[in-house]
Amino acid sequence: MKSLKEIASAQKKDMLFLFMVAVVIGTAIVFQAFLLVKAVDGVFLNEQSISQVLPTLGGLFLVLLVRTIGNYWKGKRGIEMATKVKRHLRKELMEKYAKNPLQSSLRGQTGGKVSMMMDAVDEVDNYFSKYIPQVIQTTFIPILILIIVFTQHVNSGLIMLVTAPFIPIFMIVIGMKTKVKSEEQMDQLAAFSGRFLDALQGLTTLKLFGQAKRQKETIENSSLGFRDATMEILKVAFTSSFMLEVVTMLSIGIVALELAIQLIVYQSISFFTAFFVLVLVPEFFSSLKELGTTFHNGRTSMGAAKKVFEELAEEEQLVKWGQMAIDHTEPPEMELQNLAFRYGEDQFSINNINEKITPYSQIAIVGRSGSGKTTLLHLLAGLLAPEEGEILLNGQGLYRYREKDWFDQLGYITQDPFIFSGTIAENISIGGGEHVSREEIEKAAKQAGVDDLVCSLDKGYDTPIGEAGRGLSGGEKQRLAIARAFLKKPSVILFDEPTTGLDLQTEKILQASMKQLAQHATVITVAHRLHTIKHADKILFLEKGRLIASGSHEELMESVPAYKSMVSVQRGGTAS
Ligand code: ATP
Ligand code: MG
Repeated sequence: MKSLKEIASAQKKDMLFLFMVAVVIGTAIVFQAFLLVKAVDGVFLNEQSISQVLPTLGGLFLVLLVRTIGNYWKGKRGIEMATKVKRHLRKELMEKYAKNPLQSSLRGQTGGKVSMMMDAVDEVDNYFSKYIPQVIQTTFIPILILIIVFTQHVNSGLIMLVTAPFIPIFMIVIGMKTKVKSEEQMDQLAAFSGRFLDALQGLTTLKLFGQAKRQKETIENSSLGFRDATMEILKVAFTSSFMLEVVTMLSIGIVALELAIQLIVYQSISFFTAFFVLVLVPEFFSSLKELGTTFHNGRTSMGAAKKVFEELAEEEQLVKWGQMAIDHTEPPEMELQNLAFRYGEDQFSINNINEKITPYSQIAIVGRSGSGKTTLLHLLAGLLAPEEGEILLNGQGLYRYREKDWFDQLGYITQDPFIFSGTIAENISIGGGEHVSREEIEKAAKQAGVDDLVCSLDKGYDTPIGEAGRGLSGGEKQRLAIARAFLKKPSVILFDEPTTGLDLQTEKILQASMKQLAQHATVITVAHRLHTIKHADKILFLEKGRLIASGSHEELMESVPAYKSMVSVQRGGTAS
């Protein structure tokens, strides 16, 4: 899907409905004019009594009712269309971001993405709720009125025919300008939102470095940029409606003048005809004028929509998952085959890793800070796609399996697990299926060693945490993530150990938890603690993205000097 027009024409049923409503409204307009003129003509020229024109007035009331109902349906259907399209666009954006969460979060600012999802998509509203219904109405009503006027009085018809084109000409000139301006405005808004959220999240850091004031100025500048872009659009909008008003008034004036001359000077037409035409003419122009106004709206929408479509079309190395099912009961046999990855041209890379990981084994990945341990874990998780080589699960490439099947049996405890704003119970429950009981949550929390922490709180498991509530320490967050893993019961567990030292008590809990999880799973740990390293079945030693050695702790101590020197300075942990 590349343009709003294509989306609109795909909604055939709605378009047909709107056209039928236009026919009803158009017919009502003509009858309204006819009945009004008939009543006035009857009372003032033919001296009819009120009771004689009563049927006409009744008809007039009915016609007005029909017109009102028509307008209501037009508005309602327009809003329904807009809602449908906006929901669709937001869903597509969401899917795009979710498809490759790591890639998406690396590119561009979060605030900019939020503004894209909310504001840019909202701008699209007018196109469907106002512009399209008006366009459909204007393809019918003015033509109908013009035909009626021609049958009544040719001169008036001719004047309308000559003056009418000025309105679309104005519209087109102004519309072109608006579309560019609205794209500018959307860029400004995205920049502003991005900067604002960035500064807000980093406020503590900025304050500590005495940069808060300077940042305030940057935000102020980008907010002024947005204001200027908005004012530019409004300027065009106000000028355009003023010009449209002038053209319309002039045209109606000319028709009225001509009618008056024909009626009074030449006496070539009846009062009925002149009045009938005079009532219809403003309807003709107001229909065109409304199109002019909504044209401006439509253009603004198109500008915003262009941004959304550009975002959707942005190429990313998309990972395509297959359809193979994964057997849920046993951990898979894993094999890294010529695995290679790079973040980009001349950026950090992982090179040519070959390794077999047998089911239920405990793997430790070790290496200096920045050696690529977390990157390798992301690759194993299927969050980053390898540039070369594959990860084989039971002999088949990881990406040939169903995405959901894989993530269903994967537990990944990252270095900085995300805590959603919600209660502790809610945060743990995302590890489980749709309906997780309170007992299950509490059991998982106990197994992960967060039970003590929770019990010390007034509201226990119902304590709000994350953005909406109290914060948690890094270690507490990881234990919460482990509780999620206990609920999920994955068969492959990836664990990015905390680099910070833990107290003895917490260390013990962590060890016990991991041991318990390992009973049913293959565990691959980025290890910093000597205990984990010593107890691993196999250690992968990374240096600058290369796997320079693998084997047991004793083997590596003996044969790899770099490993020995690194581990000898490692914190002791509760070695046992
Ligand atoms: P630590 O022990 O400190 O957690 P690590 O071994 O986990 O380190 P990684 O996070 O895998 O290290 O990072 C490996 C290298 O990749 C680092 O030099 C880092 O600067 C680089 N890197 C990480 N993310 C990106 C990215 N999005 N784009 C480019 N380079 C990146
Ligand atoms: Mg890391």
